[in-house]
Formats: sequence, C-alpha cells, structure tokens
Amino acid sequence: MSDFLLDKIRGGFYGQALGDAWAMPAWLNPQQSWDYYHGYITEFLDAPDTHPVHHGLRAGQVTDDTEQAYSIAESIIAEGHVSAQGVADAIVRWYDRIGGDSSPYVGPSSRRAIQAIKRGEDLNEVGRIGDTNGAAMRISPVGLIHPGNVEAAVEDAYLACIPSHNTDVAVSGAAAVAGAIAAALPAGSSLDEVIAAGQRAADLGRKHGHVWIGASVSRRIDLAVQIARSDKSERQRLQDLYDLVGATLAISEAVPAAFGVLAMAQGDPIQAAIYAAALSGDADTVAAMACAMAGAFKGAGSFPPEVIQKIQQANPSMDFEKIIAGLYQLAIKGS
Ligand SMILES: [Mg+2]
Repeated sequence: MSDFLLDKIRGGFYGQALGDAWAMPAWLNPQQSWDYYHGYITEFLDAPDTHPVHHGLRAGQVTDDTEQAYSIAESIIAEGHVSAQGVADAIVRWYDRIGGDSSPYVGPSSRRAIQAIKRGEDLNEVGRIGDTNGAAMRISPVGLIHPGNVEAAVEDAYLACIPSHNTDVAVSGAAAVAGAIAAALPAGSSLDEVIAAGQRAADLGRKHGHVWIGASVSRRIDLAVQIARSDKSERQRLQDLYDLVGATLAISEAVPAAFGVLAMAQGDPIQAAIYAAALSGDADTVAAMACAMAGAFKGAGSFPPEVIQKIQQANPSMDFEKIIAGLYQLAIKGS
C-alpha cells in the first residue's frame, strides 16, 4: 500500500472531525437553522450562546462523536486490534475525562451502559437495549483499519458495539458506516460501490447483537439515496430527508440520513458538512458519519489545507496525526 492509502485514512479521520465541528452550531430543524444563519453554514462557527447542547463550543471544536472516536482509536492502536473490553475502557475513559455524570453530551445508550460497566455488570448485557446513533458516530476508526475488507469491518464494528449498543439495529447502523468507509479506501472506489457496501454491511451487521426494535438501516439507506438524487431543489431534498428519513438519535434514522447527505454531496466532504448542517436534527452526528465516509472516499488531499489547520488548532488536546499514523500501520498490516 502507499501514500494513497494514508491520504484516504487521513481524509476519513479528519472528515469525522470536520463534519462534527461544522454542524455543531446547527439548530434543531432545517427551517430553524436556515432562518438563524440566513442560508447554509459555509465555515466553522462558534455555537450560539443559546444553543441547548453546544453553547460554549468555539469554531472548529468537535463534540462527543469525535472525542469517542479518538478514544476508541487510541485503544485499537494500543491493543493492535478491536476488542469489546478495549472499547469499553475507551468510552469509560472518555466519560470520566468530560465529567460524564453532569454532561449534557452523553447519549442515552452510552450513559446507561457506562454506568452499568462501572457497576461491574456483564459486558455482554450492558448494551442490550442500546439503539441510538452513538454506536455509529464513533465507528470511523474501525472502518479505517480495514481497507477493502467490508466483512472484517462488520465483525469489528460488532465488537465495538458490545459495550453500549449491543442490539441488531445498532450493530447494523455502525456496520453500515464502517463497511462504507472500508469500501471507500481502495483506489478507484466509486460512490455507488461505497453506498452498496454500506447497505451490505448493514444487512450483515443486523445478524449480530440482541434482537431489538428498529427499522431496516439498509432499506432506509435506499430511501435516503433516492431522496438525495431526486430532481427536487436542494432545500426540498433536505426537508424530505428530515421529514421522511429523519435525523434524530435513532440509529435507523441518523445513519440513513448520513448516506443521503453523502449521496447529495456526491461524496465531497465539505459539501457533505454543509448539507448535514442544513439538515439539522442531530446534525453533528449525521455530519461526522457522512464526512468520515466522504473523507475516506476523497482523501484528505481534497480538503482545503486551512480546514485541517483549524481542526488541529481548535482541538489542541487531540493529536490527530499520531492517531492517523497508528491507524495506517494497522491498515497496512491487515491488508
Ligand atoms: Mg455530538
């Protein structure tokens, strides 16, 4: 493998941060964001002081999505592979670092599972009803270490879900994102192949985890891509994604919405960030997933250099290049 693969892994990991930070200031629904910003968000912005979750965050700062992805990547690199215990330790470490007990950032499945892990409960049981998008928002490192190997990405996505989102629907959503990223890394991948790989991975992932309630991630990706590629106006397509696919914490909404945004942006990371912010809902999470996939597809060379500089400057506690180098070493070892 080559510097080409390194560029794509950089694109995937910076893409995660790009989407997360870009969409972090978005409001709750498309109209609200459109009215507040008088159109699209076209650069990194501070969160508004009155934002219900992200007030206080500065332009370019990432949220829980990238913080957890970073923590998980550290564990994967230290162990040399993905393990359920390593991911459990990573999310507990993250939770303690941010003061999770009093933080509005912690999603419902993660909070419930982390508290059970801390009580010493069985790791295979603590995530048995986790069905929100936290499983997929942090999965990008798992896809990035498996260039071209969708099946391996799915198996490792399952391991990463066990400590908090151990349900068939959540594994399906996480596997979709990890599988699409794995398929995006090889030279010459097409966007249709990336989306198809995400759907195949969603179906494979659905066979894992405790049986739970949830719509089909793979069939809803179909719906989202159809909406994204319809001949309606951009704003109407975003509204249709919001109304019909949904962009909430439910993993069977947020993951298909991310594929819709990816398709609308034709795989371009900056455009995906712009669309996901305008879509609103759980915008930072949808954007983090869409832009991780887009970044792995297009590579970091497609980002304006100032975007990567801004991400680094705004998140000084994170050594992005160190993580990327570690993921790259695992990717070339396994491929
Ligand atoms: Mg977030």
